[in-house]
Amino acid sequence: MKITDHIKNAKGKTLFSFELLPPIKGQSIQGIFNTIDPLMEFNPPFIDVTYLREDYIYKQHPNGLLEKIAYRKRPSTVATCAAIMNRYKVDAVPHLICGGFTKEETENALIDLQFLGIDNVLVLRGDARKSDSSFIPTPGGHAYASELLQHVVNMNQGKYLHDYMDNTEKTDFCIGIAGYPEKHFESPNLETDFKYLKQKVDAGADFIVTQMFFDVDKYQAFVAKCRQNGIHIPIIPGLKPITTSKQLVSLPKVFHLDIPLELSEAILACKSEKDVKEVGIEWMIHQCKALIALGAPVLHFYTMGNPEPTKRIIQGVF
Ligand code: FAD
Repeated sequence: MKITDHIKNAKGKTLFSFELLPPIKGQSIQGIFNTIDPLMEFNPPFIDVTYLREDYIYKQHPNGLLEKIAYRKRPSTVATCAAIMNRYKVDAVPHLICGGFTKEETENALIDLQFLGIDNVLVLRGDARKSDSSFIPTPGGHAYASELLQHVVNMNQGKYLHDYMDNTEKTDFCIGIAGYPEKHFESPNLETDFKYLKQKVDAGADFIVTQMFFDVDKYQAFVAKCRQNGIHIPIIPGLKPITTSKQLVSLPKVFHLDIPLELSEAILACKSEKDVKEVGIEWMIHQCKALIALGAPVLHFYTMGNPEPTKRIIQGVF
């Protein structure tokens, strides 16, 4: 079922969902099931599976030169989605990225998703490869999420890249995009970032999932700005509790967000990592209650392979 229909059917009640990473190469699907099993009692209508771009492993020679020695790819997001749908009978939402795909490969991936009965995709530009300092588009692929989105919209209208696709049925994907309440880090300012967000919505996006944030006022301001500018699709808050003191530094660095002073001071005052986790979970419970009061359609958790903090938060919220 489409995410927009799940939200409509909930009639204003806030839903719960989460996302996970595809397994690391060499690991079995059981690791994924171990993350999902403890969260199934909360009836998530959908589960997202991220997509990690291929990467290279380098060897440094004594002369300082770097040699590319290996190409690393995670097992398929598509296969992980199929396994989830088969076992749990919930909608799996694959993330689809520009990086690492030519347009043909994108189209083939979407045809596979349609064949599997997947109704939703979250379209993204994708992160830079770890071995690159910034995002490098794949030759023959898309450079921005808006281009990828347009590709999916075209397929929904029966317009494929090549004539040989004549016999292919129209797709009917419900399309999600990313939004950044605190702006995307490459954007010079909030206004420019917002202009590109609006471009994606006007091109046919059906829902937005936000980057994580720790200040509900930022989500509220983002939603208000969207509504004032004619963006009326659901805006799903992306959430992750702080669970270690190191994240006070790593989350702002990696995700380019602010941690409110009250939260950072509470974490710095903790005597142990166990206390840090408790503070992070408590903060997120309050944050979720405030989001429900604001009418957030879904509380969407970035589990990062660890279901326990999310489970405790949901128990504390609902
Ligand atoms: P875009 O919308 O393309 O925007 C990228 C930047 O370019 C922004 O600064 C934007 O303002 C600017 N921009 C947009 N269009 C144009 C244009 N036409 N001309 C000039 N500038 C433009 N990454 C992964 O690799 N895999 C995942 O599974 C994944 N899942 C995510 C899920 C969520 C909910 C979120 C919020 C992020 C996720 N990411 C993932 C990270 C995401 O890919 C990065 O944040 C990436 O840097 C930007 O992706 P985007 O889709 O927002 O890009």
